[in-house]
Amino acid sequence: MSIIVQKFGGTSVATTEKILSAAKKAIKAQQEGHQVVMVVSAMGKNTDVLVSLAHELMDRPPAREMDMLLSTGEQVSVALTAMAIMSLGHKAVSLTGAQIGIRTDNVFGKARIISISTDRMQKLLDDGNIVIAAGFQGIDEEFNITTLGRGGSDTTAVSLAAVLGASCEIYTDVDGVYTADPRVVSTARKVTHTSYDEMLEMASLGAGVMHSRSIEFAKKFNVPVHVRSSQEDTTGTIISTVSEDPTRGVSGAAVTMDEARITLSGVPDKPGTSNAIFSAIARANITVDMIVQDAGVGGISNISFTVPSAELAPTLEAVQPIAEQLGIQNITSRDNVSKISVVGIGMAEQSGVSDRMFRALSDKSINIHMITTSQIKISVLVDRDQALEAINAVHQTFELDATSSDAVPAESPQATPAADPAAAANKLQGMEELAITDIALDSTQASISIHGVPDTPGIAATIFETVAQENIIVDMIIQSYLDDSEFASLSFTVQREDHQRTLDVLQDMQSEVSFQEVASNPAVAKLSVSGIGLRSHTGVAIRMFQSLAEAGMNIEMINTSEVRVNVVVDDSQGDSGLKALTQAFEDVMGRQVNI
Ligand code: ADP
Ligand code: ASP
Ligand code: MG
Repeated sequence: MSIIVQKFGGTSVATTEKILSAAKKAIKAQQEGHQVVMVVSAMGKNTDVLVSLAHELMDRPPAREMDMLLSTGEQVSVALTAMAIMSLGHKAVSLTGAQIGIRTDNVFGKARIISISTDRMQKLLDDGNIVIAAGFQGIDEEFNITTLGRGGSDTTAVSLAAVLGASCEIYTDVDGVYTADPRVVSTARKVTHTSYDEMLEMASLGAGVMHSRSIEFAKKFNVPVHVRSSQEDTTGTIISTVSEDPTRGVSGAAVTMDEARITLSGVPDKPGTSNAIFSAIARANITVDMIVQDAGVGGISNISFTVPSAELAPTLEAVQPIAEQLGIQNITSRDNVSKISVVGIGMAEQSGVSDRMFRALSDKSINIHMITTSQIKISVLVDRDQALEAINAVHQTFELDATSSDAVPAESPQATPAADPAAAANKLQGMEELAITDIALDSTQASISIHGVPDTPGIAATIFETVAQENIIVDMIIQSYLDDSEFASLSFTVQREDHQRTLDVLQDMQSEVSFQEVASNPAVAKLSVSGIGLRSHTGVAIRMFQSLAEAGMNIEMINTSEVRVNVVVDDSQGDSGLKALTQAFEDVMGRQVNI
């Protein structure tokens, strides 16, 4: 018999009336012949209320006690949901994370799932019960209650679907995944389909409709996810291997409002520096987001990166001692910035995406502080008070409100996951561990760095428009930033055969844009590590920087995304870099992943 996991978010179980309507959906699915597991979140804003109570007592409450407290929200709603089903004359049993056997590591507040046992759930289902599972929680080896991170009930739902070989429905307060948060961009459009990679990037870049780690599970275990409204009975969005329109350069936009930027200036430009800095942060379990390191001038470089605003203080604490050891001259930070990103799997094949984004921002006089790009996304950092204007401008410039004629029709059938018991058993161990699918070396690129670029709106747009007009395809772009300076640095890579032509174009542009200096490396090597959850697994950064440092690599450029991390080094170091990375990730290559 097929199993359906139905997840109901906070607003969808905010009152007993709403709980009854969720219960009816589950009963209906059971009557249609499915076995049903419900995953429910805490009622309404209950988790926020619990967080505020804790902060009435302590500024930084201990993480273990926080998890003990926050898990109670879900315990209330599972019990009430079971009662609602019983009141309608059906059988139901509620279970906490511990009772299901959701084993996690002991990183309180952002625990990762190690294994889930299906026995108890399966027995209850076979006895005709609707099983109601508490979202967002698990238990560690020492029986401590853990939570998976805010929004983590989605991850509970998709992981249960993965181990049960079930399909997964996410019932929420929107009727699907939109091209941008519909509360922020009024012209945002619901998409019929989105691919795992696009959704992974969108979610990790701020599209809060899905917890990004839930999409890691969905992709790893090939679970199609249907995001839909808990209020109306309409088809929502299918997240699967199918993209709505893979030919479209940009398919969505997202904003993360509360970002903080840290800049280390006067960093000695030698092997091991990035390793020391980012390992220290990763050891504090903090996920670094945009990392921008500009190619050094005179043996000194600058590194800027972003973390969630709430993690600024612990990040500075982690960085300070290392900075002193390394003799770094200056650490500055700002926490009034936001990140605007565009995502699209067709982006890598199209030129002129980045300059269009930069132009849309400059037309609104929005200054860009930092830029990072990867194969399927471009992110820029802007002042927080301009963030909403920025995402609306970007959404408009890529015409995301309009359906394209190549779009996959809404009624295309939903794929069902393969029910392979052997594979399912295999899934029970190390569920959320790192999975690397590919490590590659690209020896076709050159790098260009423009130093002393005036830090005013429109400069990046002008430079990349001019380069695009010459049909030069730009791959990685990073723009760094220095406090107290009216200048920024822009670095990017192009194909080696375009190296000289790019330098000529830049020289011709000097009358229009007065930058100070252009430096270039005609032959660089780009090393890429691809996989799932690369940024959220802080261990990736540690392994990567450590192995490159041990191999004596000097990193010129870095960029990170949820599905790929790229570093640029000198061409002469390409082969040894590839070897170092392959060794570093040997044990996790291709692990139990069917992608
Ligand atoms: P739940 O409580 O059901 O888990 P969430 O509040 O976590 O609901 O997620 C739903 C919200 O996500 C929506 O109300 C919407 O404002 C927000 N959101 C952000 N980005 C998107 C997007 N791209 N598409 C749809 N909703 C989005
Ligand atoms: N109740 C938790 C939260 O508010 C988990 C969830 O809703 O997904 O973050
Ligand atoms: Mg949610």
